[in-house]
Amino acid sequence: MPILQLVDVYKRFNDFNAVSGISLNILDGEFLTVVGPSGSGKTTLLRMLAGMEAPSDGNITLRGELINNVPAKERPTCLVFQSLALFPHKTVGENIEFPLKVKNIPPAQRKARALELLQMLRLPESYYAKNVMKCSGGEKQRVALARAFAYDPDVLLFDEPLSALDYKLKKVLEKELKDLHRQSGKTFVYITHSLEEAMVMSDRIAVMRAGKIVQIGTPETIYANPEDEFVAEFFGEVNKFSVSLNEEWGWFSQDTESSLTLRLPTDWPGSEQATVIVRPEYMRFATSAHEFDNVISGTVFNEYSLGSRIQYQVRCGNKSVLVEIPRTLARNAAPDEQVMIGWNAADAFVAEA
Ligand code: ATP
Repeated sequence: MPILQLVDVYKRFNDFNAVSGISLNILDGEFLTVVGPSGSGKTTLLRMLAGMEAPSDGNITLRGELINNVPAKERPTCLVFQSLALFPHKTVGENIEFPLKVKNIPPAQRKARALELLQMLRLPESYYAKNVMKCSGGEKQRVALARAFAYDPDVLLFDEPLSALDYKLKKVLEKELKDLHRQSGKTFVYITHSLEEAMVMSDRIAVMRAGKIVQIGTPETIYANPEDEFVAEFFGEVNKFSVSLNEEWGWFSQDTESSLTLRLPTDWPGSEQATVIVRPEYMRFATSAHEFDNVISGTVFNEYSLGSRIQYQVRCGNKSVLVEIPRTLARNAAPDEQVMIGWNAADAFVAEA
């Protein structure tokens, strides 16, 4: 059941389409994340949902009612910014209670709700009287979230709310946001540059490019079955092989001088040029030429520790290929060591070149 429905929505600035014909159903209670390169129109889309911009064309409906020109304050939506927009000279409690004060809720009731929200956001009750500027970055972020919940909106819109925080705190808050989403049953629409954030938290991810949504689906679908090369590359590092079909070798990669076994999509148009994309974590070191559908040889020339995983750069013909394996399976590759690396056809994505 969609809570918000966009039908062929455009936003033009002069002659430029920042959002270009988006049709999208946002489901009641879902966690939808919008990702895309800088300038792809994410914030503009969110601002239209918030009522801070009106579409130039198309319709936005909320539970079936047209809301194109309904201003922000008359919508059951709340936008949480990266900059937080907290009132600096007020206490944590006053910040959280602000939306309730605007609604003329009596002070005792406001305080009770603020304390409930502090608890929900895992801030100590004593913070109620603390000046908000004396809070840490992560605490301020929680206060901003508590204030957003105090509005009691049906839809919470987030514009990169965690981007200013350090890695560890981000990881904590990602999980907390996901829990809050589950507990509250509200609809979350979330913009981020962090693919990890999108993967961890979302029910669905929408990938934007040049004002359009190029793919929407569960994190697993988008990661494992990208619609095209752009989406595949956007979601993390990839190895790309250009291959062409010939009678003698079948699918042949000139770069690595090897013939490759591909799993073509069911709707393959018959093209004889293809791009094969394999994520580094689907690459493995092989002990025999038949261990995987595809095995190519090369020399290890770099090794990077990524914490729980190790990434190797292997020179195969003209190509530098990334192999990423869990630390527990790490091998001590000597510099310039000759190795075989391989992957199974089912773990690669094939696009028309
Ligand atoms: P980022 O990830 O960098 O925040 P974004 O995907 O959120 O980018 P938007 O902020 O939506 O992108 O901007 C999309 C395009 O629209 C950009 O090219 C931007 O310059 C343009 N744009 C946005 N707002 C306006 C405006 N008020 N007037 C003119 N152009 C605008």
